[in-house]
Formats: sequence, C-alpha cells, structure tokens
Amino acid sequence: MTLEIPKELKPKDGRFGCGPSKVRTEAFAKVAEQAGTLLGTSHRQAPVRQLVKRMREGLSSLFSLPEGYEVVLGNGGATCFWDIATFCLIQERSQHLSFGEFSSKFASAAKAAPHLADPVVIKSDFGTHPEAVADESVDVYAFTHNETSTGVAMEIKRPLDSSGKPASGLVLVDATSGAGGLRFDPREADAYYFAPQKSFGSDGGLFIAVMSPAAIERSKKIGESGRFIPAFLDLNTAIDNSRLDQTYNTPSIVTMAVMAEQIDWFNENGGLEWAASRSDKSAEIIYGWAENSDFATPFAANPKDRSHVVATIDFADEIDASQIAKTLRQNGIVDTEPYRKLGRNQLRVAMFPGIDPEDIEALTGCVDYIVKNM
Ligand SMILES: *Cc1c(COP(=O)(O)O)cnc(C)c1O
Repeated sequence: MTLEIPKELKPKDGRFGCGPSKVRTEAFAKVAEQAGTLLGTSHRQAPVRQLVKRMREGLSSLFSLPEGYEVVLGNGGATCFWDIATFCLIQERSQHLSFGEFSSKFASAAKAAPHLADPVVIKSDFGTHPEAVADESVDVYAFTHNETSTGVAMEIKRPLDSSGKPASGLVLVDATSGAGGLRFDPREADAYYFAPQKSFGSDGGLFIAVMSPAAIERSKKIGESGRFIPAFLDLNTAIDNSRLDQTYNTPSIVTMAVMAEQIDWFNENGGLEWAASRSDKSAEIIYGWAENSDFATPFAANPKDRSHVVATIDFADEIDASQIAKTLRQNGIVDTEPYRKLGRNQLRVAMFPGIDPEDIEALTGCVDYIVKNM
C-alpha cells in the first residue's frame, strides 16, 4: 500500500532532479508565447541569431566577464566538451581533480587520447575534493565546480606555484551543475563550461563555454598545429560561429529559448548574487534539517565541501532511503534518488536557483512524515 503524504505538507513543485532539473513553467510559458514566430524558423536568420545573442550577452552580464572573455556555444552538452578539450585545449598533458563520476570521466577521455601524454589524476574520497598542485609538466588543470554525483563543490582558484604566482596552465572548469547557482571569479578560469539542464533549468544537448583570451589563443594554436581534429569537435569552428551568434549545426531552439528566459530572470532579479543566494537559502534549510535529524546526516563531512546546488543526505542504516525516494515518487515528488553508481543509502536533492527554498523546506517535512509513518 502506498503511504499518502498530506497535501498541505507537499511542495508546490515536486521536481528535485539534478539534471534534467525543474524547468520553470513561467519560463516555458514565455517561450510558448513566441512559438509562432521563433520555433521552427531558420537558425541562420535574425530571430534565432537574436536569441543566441541574447544568451551570450546575458551570460556576459550574469558572470561579469572581463574584457576579452567570450561566450562560445555548440551542440553536444558538457560530455562533448570533454572531447573538444581533449582535441583543442590540452596541448600535451593535463592534471585532473577526480572526486566523482563526472570529474573522472574527463580524466578518462584525456587518458584515452593517443595524441596526449598520460594525465596526472589527483583523487580524493567521495564526499571531499582534492586540491590542485602547480606542475610545470602540465598545460591544463581540470576542475569541477560542483561534482553532481557526490554533492561536493570546490572554490575555483588557479593553483599557485612555489613563488606564489598563478601556474601557467589553462584552468578548465566543468561547471555543468554549478554555473548559475554558485559564485566564481571568471579571472580564475580559462574555460568555464556547462550545459543548460541544471542550474539554468532548461533542457540538455548544448554546451556553453566561457573562454578567456588565453584559452581562445590555445585553441587557435592547436588548430594550426596540424593535429587531427574531428570537424564536430573543432573548438575554433564553434568560436567562429558563436561570434556570428550561430552554432555549427542545427541547435535545439527550445533549449536556447528556455535558457535565455532563465538568464534574463536571474539578471532582472539581481544577477548571480541573487541566484546563488536562493541556493544558499535552500542549502541552509536542508543541511540544517539533516544536522538536527536523528536519522539523516549530510554526506560531505566538512561543511565547506557541501554543495549549495546539490545536497546529498545519508540515512541511518535502519532507514531505507530508496524506500523514501520511492514513496516520494508515488506522491509526485520525483528524482530524489542518489547517483546510481555512488551506491549509498542516500537521497540527492537539487537546490538550483529555480527551485523554491520553501519547496526544499516542504520536502524535509515530507521525508520526516514518511520516516514517522514507514
Ligand atoms: C550533468 C553533468 C555532466 C554531463 O552533462 P551532459 O550535458 O549530459 O553531457 C557533466 N559534468 C557535470 C558536473 C554534470 O553535472
């Protein structure tokens, strides 16, 4: 028999997945209004190019990009960008901080590339993150702003060499779930890349990379070096097209349109600071609840490592978290299951800026209700 959660305890919106994540119905409704003029029209003509321009300018403003930084986009999502970086940004050897599923995948892509030397991979236990080490033998440092699989976030800072100066390699940051929900200084990164289906509450399929002049220069240099680069993975082609507010091949216009609405929503309300503070509020609620609970504990032991956009909450052995997730799902509250390969007795909850902190509060009430009545 299904346990029914009283209606008054339930969140207004029951979507807590970490990607695809909650798409705000208001954003989607705005896109629907333009359906007759924008959707189903050429991506080489003014209306769609205007949309790409709106996204690029909106992101420059959201991230307060310094002079010379560019917003580059193309098809394929964040996973595709790992291959792009493997071909177009790593000169010879990369260093990877590996602390979960996503960060380990980029390291594997670099290791498999026959044209690169074996990467340096620095690992740490799940639930923590390692620190980068300045190393003259590497030309790329690969970070993950928020490791979505474990709910651990790290601060974006260039590694410092022994004289206290920033190391010379490029800093590439997988910010797929962090971008838009976590603060960062763009000067500390050379490619800050992400996809729209996490903090930006849109759909998947696109990659967006905020690139520094040094990263653009590196891509150009490798492009001229004669290295074989598959056409679809050629970053220089993506840069050229982005400068024209286009993509190399046909993009999903709906994905971009919802993304543009979300970027505007952030900017109109106070930008990244506002968006991040919504996630801060949700994080305060859920971690505070877990710390005061008899049966739940935040997975990341160190509060500094705990992500403000993805919470991972462990449960006491006698309580079956998968049963809680299942009961929530039966009540229309979905996608709180933990990352499948982590294999812990845990719930994982998205706290992206589009998710109302009050709904996070309501979710904790629902979990308490289930545990009491289980
Ligand atoms: C979701 C996610 C990815 C994969 O994104 P796709 O768009 O599905 O390729 C990569 N890295 C992180 C940190 C993610 O959260």
